[in-house]
Amino acid sequence: MFCPVCRSINTGKVGSNVYYCADCLLEFTDKNGQMEIFYIDAEGASFALRDKNIALKLVETIRSGSQLFPEKIEELIKG
Ligand SMILES: [Zn+2]
Repeated sequence: MFCPVCRSINTGKVGSNVYYCADCLLEFTDKNGQMEIFYIDAEGASFALRDKNIALKLVETIRSGSQLFPEKIEELIKG
């Protein structure tokens, strides 16, 4: 399947109805046709991302090489 955030096909199934994108390091789950997006940090904490735009912003931050602290993630999630 395509990653709903970056359109990469570099995705894999990691659980029942849970997918992982190796390019943007996000997890997705299809919940009754509604795509839920999660960011899993280095500590294993998962952050639910409200929508694709927030996920994109997070991915851009990761790709720019910025360190993502939980405070920074919270800030991005809240918009
Ligand atoms: Zn992706």
